[in-house]
Amino acid sequence: MPLTYIPAALRRLIIERARQCCEYCLIDQQDTPTTHEVDHLVAIKHGGQPQSENLALACLRCNRLKGSDLTAIDSLDGSVIPLFNPRQHAWRDHFEIAGVLIRGITPAGRATVALLRLNDRNRLRVREDSMAVGRFPPSWL
Ligand SMILES: [Zn+2]
Repeated sequence: MPLTYIPAALRRLIIERARQCCEYCLIDQQDTPTTHEVDHLVAIKHGGQPQSENLALACLRCNRLKGSDLTAIDSLDGSVIPLFNPRQHAWRDHFEIAGVLIRGITPAGRATVALLRLNDRNRLRVREDSMAVGRFPPSWL
């Protein structure tokens, strides 16, 4: 996917709107060695635009695993489901937190957890460290 230039002011808005946290896995920028990226919810190749309502803050891992995908498989019944969209959906309506685990509680939540591998071992370790310093789950959630 070609990189799209995001003006600095728009990038700042996206980071502030997300409170410096990945809008999928909620990890705070301070708790990852990599820099969170601006994710196009609908990729440019699918006609998405680099505008605020089509952009989200995503950690490197979530952004790489999502790529330009718009759908994934619901682990419950195998159906193809549109991914969780941080601009259209409220995180708490689609996911729940159990310790350091993130569970999908809707088809979109389950499909997103599976595609983005939100509960891979290394991600749980990062969340454990974040929890130890009081940043996971985020207090504003
Ligand atoms: Zn993430």
